[in-house]
Amino acid sequence: MTLKKVEDIKELQIGLTSRCTGSCKFCFRMELINCYQWGGYPAVDIDAKHLFKVIDSLPNLKNILLIGNKGEVICHPEINYIIKELKSRSKIESIYMATNGSSKKKIFWRWLGTILGEHDNVVFAIDGLQDTHHIYRKSKFDTVFGNMIEFIKGGGNAWWQFIVFKHNQHQVEEARKLAKSVGCRQFIVMASRRYDDEFERPVDCDEISQKTKFELALERIDDRKVSCESKINGRVYMTTNGLMFPCCRLACFYSENAYRDPLQLSTKILVSQSRGIISTYRHSVEEILNSDFFRRTFDHLDDEFTDNPLTGVEYTCWRFCRFIDYQKQNIRREENLC
Ligand code: SF4
Ligand code: SF4
Repeated sequence: MTLKKVEDIKELQIGLTSRCTGSCKFCFRMELINCYQWGGYPAVDIDAKHLFKVIDSLPNLKNILLIGNKGEVICHPEINYIIKELKSRSKIESIYMATNGSSKKKIFWRWLGTILGEHDNVVFAIDGLQDTHHIYRKSKFDTVFGNMIEFIKGGGNAWWQFIVFKHNQHQVEEARKLAKSVGCRQFIVMASRRYDDEFERPVDCDEISQKTKFELALERIDDRKVSCESKINGRVYMTTNGLMFPCCRLACFYSENAYRDPLQLSTKILVSQSRGIISTYRHSVEEILNSDFFRRTFDHLDDEFTDNPLTGVEYTCWRFCRFIDYQKQNIRREENLC
């Protein structure tokens, strides 16, 4: 897959909104709030009409991923309209959504289960049971679990995602059984992206790696092969303000000034040419795919990693997307419950 023509795009991941009622400590959103010392996160919602203009310009688009990297997708004020519009386009074969499941009333979740189809899936983040889920997620287990049940009753395919910490590791098996008994299609166990003294890593746990993805990446320095799921799947990522990035990871590192390493070539491109070069308001998707920013990433995936940030594979790709099969087995395991 070359990912240079508009026809090459098969999947679009969308950050619908920066709103969220949660406050998970290791979320990129919380890091930004702390970094900028904001009292709260500024609310930015994707413009729904603009979103569908972009969607309608992608002739071979099949799969939609509603997964923000600093917001909860269902908090978009027009989420019902967006879902209905997505379902009305025959070219869209599947919608994959990730949610904390704690916002919205039960009637919304029942409706969502009704309108989504056999090929659509919603991942609910439930990190424990009644006495532990709230510790990291700060939301009530009964609320999230109840919303997931409504969604299942409506006919939706629910996946239960469980991030394992020391405080909940003893409940993974019980949660797995509960997920199966209520009709979840998948159960996912995941390592956290970070641990600290407040949220400690699991101990002697067979379920998942006790190390984070980044720690494993540093250990496996000689494992050089980068496997780019964006390039393999024909996927790009669109932010709430209409910027297009090769993926959500690069969006994390390059959408915020405070996070950009000034020495990285991608930063230099964005500074010298402005963020406008990847804005869907200013350019067609094909122009963005052929921008210096996109080419810097996609044309160098097979290059050696070097300590020089101006050459070789992009640092973010090297850090996150090596030894993918090993990662799947150790950082995020998906189990079919059907
Ligand atoms: S619910 Fe999701 S978007 Fe909200 S703070 Fe937690 S991880 Fe971040
Ligand atoms: S970080 Fe790089 S290799 Fe990984 S999905 Fe994004 S563009 Fe591809």
